[in-house]
Amino acid sequence: MTRDATTIPSAGPAAEERTASSSLADFCTPPTWTVRPEDIEDVRRLQGEIRQLARARSAVILAHNYQLPAVQEVADILGDSLALAIKARETDAERIVFCGVHFMAESAKILNMDRKVLLPSLAAGCSLADSITADSLQDWKERYPGHVVVTYINSSAEVKALSDICCTSANAVSVVRSLREDKILFTPDRNLGRWVARQVPEKDIVLYDGCCPTHDVLRGISVEKTVQTHPRAVVIAHPECREDVLDMADEICSTSGMVDAVARHPEAQTFIIATEWAMVYRLQQVYPDKEFVMADGCIGCRLHCPYMKMIDLPLVKRALEEDVFEIEVDPEVAAGARRSLERMLAVPRDR
Ligand code: SF4
Repeated sequence: MTRDATTIPSAGPAAEERTASSSLADFCTPPTWTVRPEDIEDVRRLQGEIRQLARARSAVILAHNYQLPAVQEVADILGDSLALAIKARETDAERIVFCGVHFMAESAKILNMDRKVLLPSLAAGCSLADSITADSLQDWKERYPGHVVVTYINSSAEVKALSDICCTSANAVSVVRSLREDKILFTPDRNLGRWVARQVPEKDIVLYDGCCPTHDVLRGISVEKTVQTHPRAVVIAHPECREDVLDMADEICSTSGMVDAVARHPEAQTFIIATEWAMVYRLQQVYPDKEFVMADGCIGCRLHCPYMKMIDLPLVKRALEEDVFEIEVDPEVAAGARRSLERMLAVPRDR
């Protein structure tokens, strides 16, 4: 992949760290999301307007690592669910513009009930979060009395409120290890839960049957083919991937954990990345001299989260101008969900 094309002006705090060789135009994305060289100037203008608006409106822009590259570039803080939850709790900005999906913005609101939390598009949901409801969790709890409920942050406020503790992909193993109890219901991601169960065999973990379709679609055979074409590459996988993919991985971690994982392999030049394609853009910004290859052997067409790509620059600008769409959570539900989230935040990252 060539990375020495257009030099682009800085657009915000995240952009300042980029190297001169970075370019939105030469980033190899699925065709629909590629920024054409003739559009770069408009993108930069819009990014500049968004940064100005954010300052004027006392807003902090948080963005998940799966956001569109152009959105990643206007963020004050980029990260995984855990990093963003921690930052949301620490901010003193009046507004939090959350460039991610609904459950993330909802978690930010739960941790900051006195702040305005804005999600630029209400269409940004999550199939995994939708796979469990408060009723289905209640039903499950009744079927497994005496079990502690560990719920992945990819869930609604109502489900979090019915849980004992939350976790993210960055701390799931530590969260489960931190529990005194041995009988656990792990919801809703079966792949993450199975991976945790392998790390903590002393616990009796019952798995809910949910999954992230973006990660679950990847098969070991596709990764194997990619490894054959890059035999010296280090394979880094997200724990939402299936077991046959995780079995081939040298590193298994959250998206922010991937940034650290690359640093642990200074001798390696090429990395095969098994997660949503926008993470490759993030890694390229941090490590412009390394090569990152999508694990599906494609350019990310399969490892694509449609929800994460619902947010674009015009919607971020509109969110700041019109104060939309404000996330509200019932105070009683929020109190229960906050207990599960705060309990999680007291546990450190897996590493
Ligand atoms: S990548 Fe999967 S878990 Fe994450 S927001 Fe998209 S559908 Fe949900």
